[in-house]
Amino acid sequence: MLYIGSYISASKGYEAMGKQALKLGANTFAFFTRNPRGGKAKEIDEADVARFLEIAQKHSFGKLVAHAPYTMNACAAKEDIRRFAREVMEDDLLRMEFTPGNYYNFHPGSHVGQGSEKGIALTAALLNEVLTPEQTTTVLLETMAGKGSEIGRNFEELRAILDKVDLNEKMGVCLDTCHVWDAGYDIAGDLDGVIGTFDQIIGLNRLKAIHMNDSMNPLSAHKDRHEKIGEGHIGTDTMKQILNHPALKGLPVILETPNDDEGYAKEIALLKSLYEG
Ligand code: FE
Ligand code: FE
Ligand code: ZN
Repeated sequence: MLYIGSYISASKGYEAMGKQALKLGANTFAFFTRNPRGGKAKEIDEADVARFLEIAQKHSFGKLVAHAPYTMNACAAKEDIRRFAREVMEDDLLRMEFTPGNYYNFHPGSHVGQGSEKGIALTAALLNEVLTPEQTTTVLLETMAGKGSEIGRNFEELRAILDKVDLNEKMGVCLDTCHVWDAGYDIAGDLDGVIGTFDQIIGLNRLKAIHMNDSMNPLSAHKDRHEKIGEGHIGTDTMKQILNHPALKGLPVILETPNDDEGYAKEIALLKSLYEG
């Protein structure tokens, strides 16, 4: 089963997101849990959530891949910035439980000059504060492009974070095709090799979702500029290989390409046509 979708605005609530997903031809989607800049989250309306869950069940939606605000920095040098990240994640994880069993993806953070090792330790410490044995949500670390002082720019750094998290059965990884490409993993030239490396270092059992984006930049650029499918340096053929790779089949695939709704609907249709069942 191919689970594919794009970003949908959360401003009108869950039922509206479900309906919009159907309109786009999607059977999963991503949404920001609050304004990407990290403001207050919208109040949860349980009746609205119930209507959404009905849509999701009726149309056999895959797991949702919610995204934390991208400005959140779990490994900032300043304590108040880390506290803010902790409060946002704590609140988001409570909210996620209204739609049980889905994914919450976040950027591991930027160490801002403290060094990767310190960054990894701080992000793991924050996760140890917010994860609970009761939660049904799996928290995903996103593979990063390695721009600036980002941590999670290679599989080893993600492994290092996971190793420091006590409740790491609540953790997984979201592979962003643009980010790994920009980080230097040649998914276009050697997809099997990259997947093998991922399995060796992190373990494929941890891989829970794909962010599918082409890249405006060549391999190892460390830039993180997403491009429409087939219009960047990775290419449509690699996306087709990813969709149909036995190790990746069944994972929710989320488009984060620079598109409006019409563009997303087109890309979703394109990728469905490339999926070989
Ligand atoms: Fe992201
Ligand atoms: Fe991403
Ligand atoms: Zn990105």
